[in-house]
Amino acid sequence: MKKKIVISVCAIIIIAVGLFFACQKSGLINPAKNRTSGATAGKIDAVSYRMKLDLDVNAKSLTEEVKMEIKNDTSEPVDEVIIRDMTPSIHAYNKQYYDNDTQTSAIIGITSNEQPLAYSSKQESVVRVKLNEALKPHETTTITVDMKTDIPDRQDRFGYVKRKDGYIFALSFCFPYLADNKNSEWILHPYFDDGESRSYDIADYDIEIHHPKGYAVIATGTEETNDGVTRITAHNARDMAIVVSNMMQKDTFEVKGITINNYYLDSQYTATYRKLTELVIKDAIQVYTDTVGAYPYEELDVAPLLFGFGFGGMEYPGLVMTNATSFYDGTLMDAWSLSDGLSHEIGHQWFYAAVGNDEYAEGWIDEGFTTYLERQLFGLYDGDAQHYLLEIDDMAPSVEERIAALDELMQTARQDYKKMYLNTSPDRYTKDQSYGEIEYEESYLFLQELRIAMGDDTFNAFLKDLYDRYDLKEADSDAVIALIREYDNSKTVNEILRFYFK
Ligand SMILES: [Zn+2]
Repeated sequence: MKKKIVISVCAIIIIAVGLFFACQKSGLINPAKNRTSGATAGKIDAVSYRMKLDLDVNAKSLTEEVKMEIKNDTSEPVDEVIIRDMTPSIHAYNKQYYDNDTQTSAIIGITSNEQPLAYSSKQESVVRVKLNEALKPHETTTITVDMKTDIPDRQDRFGYVKRKDGYIFALSFCFPYLADNKNSEWILHPYFDDGESRSYDIADYDIEIHHPKGYAVIATGTEETNDGVTRITAHNARDMAIVVSNMMQKDTFEVKGITINNYYLDSQYTATYRKLTELVIKDAIQVYTDTVGAYPYEELDVAPLLFGFGFGGMEYPGLVMTNATSFYDGTLMDAWSLSDGLSHEIGHQWFYAAVGNDEYAEGWIDEGFTTYLERQLFGLYDGDAQHYLLEIDDMAPSVEERIAALDELMQTARQDYKKMYLNTSPDRYTKDQSYGEIEYEESYLFLQELRIAMGDDTFNAFLKDLYDRYDLKEADSDAVIALIREYDNSKTVNEILRFYFK
């Protein structure tokens, strides 16, 4: 996601504008491969993706062979499936906003059992594939998509940057996937550059990527590199992201049994970057685990990207992209933004990666709970990360100042968000609404009001229960509201629900 934050601290109003991409989550006692993912009854399910990828760093292109294992968990035969390939939409977006008009991508062919399948794409990024034989209920088939895409010259979730000491390639949003579907309806949200419109379906991944020797490959799941070929495996993941770079080194350490690979770039601020990120990772995982539950995977990779000034990071299962721009490209390192942003993206491992939701239609769920984790749990935790941040950044607020700023936000919540309902997708915004207001700010205020009304003990019990029940499943607004009412069905809580939901 990308977002803007406004934090006012006591008499001084400090406006921090940050564009965050989105978020992720993590785990420990309960590694994802030993857990059961959500019930799939009623849907056409992508069980696994096997990919062969070839990254051409000179041509800035990616060749992909993607084999999708698809299971029909509906009660009717299926003779057509929909594949999403977001690369044409990303190229079109970059052409419009970044004057980047030379990028192309193309599907070369779609096959099953080596027989070609007919496909058509009348709508951007939506590819309808006709199966040669109907897929009967409970049966599985594999289809192979061959494609090739240019990699945009833009440091974003799909794109690359070149610096004097090398390249960073971010490969995500560029792999074709089976469209999400529910009760025989395909969900066809458009590409959404301000936030996410990804698939939330859980699948296993087995990937072989070819790249130049000497490049680090950082990915969702675990990676093993030999001689310019990296094998990536991931279990129970909602998405796959791969960062390939010859500019990165790493620190490896353990937090609560989870292996952390913390990558960094070489600059005048490297020592500070390494220390701050390590402390933030340790404290964030500690407080989220204690309050919400175990991190869902065995490994967490943190990769520094150069998204530009004012932007935040991005979450994937088991992988977080931080924005290291001010530490690498800048002369003024913005430690406060890095600390808040990284704690946010780590929080997404709990809400996004473990508890899934439709990030486009109901982005308030993953962004709201994650913002709550960032501000209320990590932000108010008086630990080593907080202490170090205050040492190195004069602008950063103390815990007392953070509490005062959050209280101030609460004062005007009811005026600011009248008739702006959390369960509103971006295509239904009124013209004065922008992405971020509802998904981050209002949803956070909703959860604060709820916590105050329910009391900390009941609210924390609800939070843990939400995490347990929807671990590797998907929660929607109705499910979250129903669970809230199981814990507190008082008049006060119902009034809060009526204010924030339509
Ligand atoms: Zn987020």
